[in-house]
Parts: sequence; C-alpha cells; structure tokens
Amino acid sequence: MKESSTRIVAVSNRLPIRLVQGPEGWEIKPGAGGLVTALAPVFKNRGGTWIGWSGGTNDADLAGLMGPASREAGYTLHPVPLSAKEVADYYYGFSNEIIWPLFHDLQTRCNFNPDYWYQYLNVNRKFAEVIARFSRDSNYVWVHDYHLMHIGQALKDLGVERNIGFFLHIPFPPADIFMKLPWRAQILRALLEYKLVGFQTLRDRRNFIQCLRHITSDIKILGRGPVVTVTIGDKEVRVGAFPISIDYAAFVRDAESKEVADLAWYLHEALPDRQIILGIDRLDYTKGIPERLEAFRDTLNRFPELQEKITLVQVVVPSREEVPEYQALKAEIERRVGEINGQFTRSGWVPVHYLYRSLERTELLAYYRLAEIALITPLKDGMNLVAKEYCACNLEQNGVLILSEFAGAAAQLYKGAIMVNPYDVEGVSSAIHQAFYMDKKERRARMRKLREIVRHRDIFWWINIFLKAALVRDLHAFPAIEDYILEFPLESQK
Ligand code: UDP
Repeated sequence: MKESSTRIVAVSNRLPIRLVQGPEGWEIKPGAGGLVTALAPVFKNRGGTWIGWSGGTNDADLAGLMGPASREAGYTLHPVPLSAKEVADYYYGFSNEIIWPLFHDLQTRCNFNPDYWYQYLNVNRKFAEVIARFSRDSNYVWVHDYHLMHIGQALKDLGVERNIGFFLHIPFPPADIFMKLPWRAQILRALLEYKLVGFQTLRDRRNFIQCLRHITSDIKILGRGPVVTVTIGDKEVRVGAFPISIDYAAFVRDAESKEVADLAWYLHEALPDRQIILGIDRLDYTKGIPERLEAFRDTLNRFPELQEKITLVQVVVPSREEVPEYQALKAEIERRVGEINGQFTRSGWVPVHYLYRSLERTELLAYYRLAEIALITPLKDGMNLVAKEYCACNLEQNGVLILSEFAGAAAQLYKGAIMVNPYDVEGVSSAIHQAFYMDKKERRARMRKLREIVRHRDIFWWINIFLKAALVRDLHAFPAIEDYILEFPLESQK
C-alpha cells in the first residue's frame, strides 16, 4: 500500500459537520475543530471519506443533505443512523459514564451498567457495517477515539478485511484502574484487532502494554522507539505514541491580525496594571476547575501583595449540560467564584472574571494574546490543546505557561512550562506567585522553547507520522524517540 496515495476513511463518533435549524428546516454547516481542519487538505489531496453519527436521531430527514454537504466539504460523508435509545446507552452511557471517567483515573464516577455494554457492541457493529459498505480493501480506515474501540473486532466478526488503525484521544489508564472494567479483556482483545493502535503519550502506551500483560503472558515487544510491534500468539499489532497538535501557522497568522490585536488591547485596557491569568476549559470534572479556584484563593490569602495585581479570567465552555453531574459541577464552580469575589473584591478590582459561554475565534485568540499567565491544570487530560494554542498565540513571548503534570501535553512542554500537581493547592498557588515575579528574560527563554516545539510538531506532522506508522513496511525507517517525543519525568519530581 503506497503511503502518499492511499485513500483514507476517517471514522469518528461525530461527523465533521454541524446541524443548524434554518428557516426552511435543517441545514448542514462544516464542523470546526483541529482534526477536521487538519484532515480536510489531506482529504482534498488523496480523496477521503468520513463516517460518523450526525448528532441527531432522525437521519432519514438528513439523507438528502449529505450529498451537497459532501460536495461542499470536498470529501464524502456517510452518516451512521442512531436511535435515541442507542445514543443514550452507547454515547451517554458506555462512552461517557464508564470509559470517560475510568480512563481519566476517576473510577468512582463510573456506572458499570451492563446494558450500556451491549449497546456499545451494537453501535460499534452498526459503524462497522457502514464502513464495510463504503470502503474498499485498498483504503486505510482510521478510527478515532474511545467511543469506537470495538470496530476492529466488529469488522472481523463481519468477515471484512481492512487495513485499519485506531487513535485514542484520551489517556489510557494504569492497569490497576483499567482492570476494574468488567469488560476489560473484551476491550483489550478488540483493540488488538487493529493493525496500529496509537496513543497520545509514551505513558499511555506503557499502561496499555501493562494491561495486555495482565491478560496474557504470551506477549513480545519487538523494536524500540515511538512505534513498536506487539506480538501475541500469531497476532502482530503496531503500537505507538503520537502527540496530537494544532495548526500552529494558522493560529500565529490569526493572532497577528489587527482584529485580534485590537481586541486584546481593548480587553487588557479594561483590566489595567495587573497580570491576567487565563483558564479555558470545557465544563468537565477532569479539568480541575474547582481545584484551580481553590489555588487562586490560596494565592490571594498567602500572598496578599498580589491582591489587585492579578485577575483570573476563567472561561468555561458549556458541555454535556443535560447531565446532572455537569450541572452540579457548574453550580460548584459558580459557588466558589462567588465566594472568592465576595471575599476579595475591592473598588476597581474583581479577582475572578467568570465567562460561561463559548468564545468566537477572535475573542479566544485575543485572550491567548493578552494573558500574562495561562493556568492549565486538568486532573488528567489526553493532550490539552489549549496549552499549545496559548503558546502559538503568545507572539510577544512574554507569557508563562503553568501546566498540570497529568496533561498529555506535559510530555512535550515540561521543559518550558512551570509544572504543577493540580491536586496540590499550595503548589499551584506558589507556581502563580513564581509566574507573577518571573522576569522578562526567563519568560522569553521558556516561551521560545515552547513555541519551537509546537511549531515543529504541528497537526500536519501528527497526521503524517500516524499514517507513516500505519503504512510503512519497515519500522526501522521510523524516527527515533528522542527526535520528537519526550516523557515527563514524574518520578524525579519532589
Ligand atoms: N475552544 C472552543 N471554544 C471556546 C474555547 C475553546 O472551541 O470557546 C477550543 C479550543 O480552541 C481547543 C478545544 O476547544 O481547541 C479544547 O481542546 P482541549 O484539548 O484543550 O480539551 P477538550 O475540550 O478536547 O477536552
């Protein structure tokens, strides 16, 4: 199979489109997001197909819209129709009440309902049927993320042979957490039906291989470097680490625009003589927002000289709002913001500016540009693209990145960031203090390092390296580990 000309079939839970209710019924708009933006030019070159759920449960109405939407996108879209019950049990249930918390090390939040599992198998089989119908054996089928771990197995059960790879966008947990999953052996064996399994970091890959050792002793690891070959019996699977990234050049270009520069100036002017600390997260319990607010409160208590000199701008992007757990999290965040502002606000200074909405791109980039400090402290995160976007947009190279040790991005960015344990309230608050007083020279040196890494290892590089690992015959030709991926040395932290 030739590396440069193979037609790709991307498969993800959601199609890269948005359904918008227009005056004459549903309209289809192109989706946003890094993966879509990055894959679009690749698809235009090689031709491509995208298979996924439309986000609705009445796809019959949408069938007529897919043709025009495909023509507009420049690649073919095939929806996988799902009923409301399937969405409830496969998406909200198995994916988001079991795999999401478990893979973020939060096993006490899991609801191991067996019905969810059967629906997960059913929906993965439905996806496999659509793949079988709309792909050929000369295509490369690239499956994305935790909703679809079982597709390789489902295709095999249908007797369909494809060159098929899988990339997990979220972390893979350590064995003592993963082994709590009642369907652990089935999931591991299903993953072994892919020819390549990709993770964000070496840590995730190591966790996966350790889990495999729990279910079989008949396992060999061949090769060294970012992609190795795992053999189990007569099965051979490539397993690699491929840190996802952003379209660095596009972020720099847009951040340089007059529109962004003007807005950044205007927003900072409204908060004069102080350093702005920025937090941007989807509403999710993995993002560590309450813990971060506690750390900020601790900063104001322990370092009172910083009062009126720092402002936290915390943006929370609405997500999964119909789930009671997320409503409770929102209430908790708002309670803490209220307490901090109630306690510390002075005339002319409100310590926390809280925005509960999504930002337009210009506004997002303006915040990235103007913030002197980015405070990114997820309890666990597959990668965290906000960290990379902040660095790309920090054109003046005067920003400080405070980053959680448990974000996938830590593996690449730890040499330039101030690293923190997000559970350590005083540690995070000391990091804020350190960032506030960091001199220009050190800020510049650190930010240059960070931006270099993000520039070299952008989203186009990521697509290339994954496809190379999937399609090269000989892994010896693959770049060495030191060349592109590091590992955050957690063990050496005091
Ligand atoms: N983002 C967005 N709307 C906003 C603020 C941020 O779409 O109002 C984007 C942000 O630019 C980033 C993504 O959301 O690309 C968040 O990705 P990340 O990996 O940090 O976290 P995730 O939400 O995927 O867990």
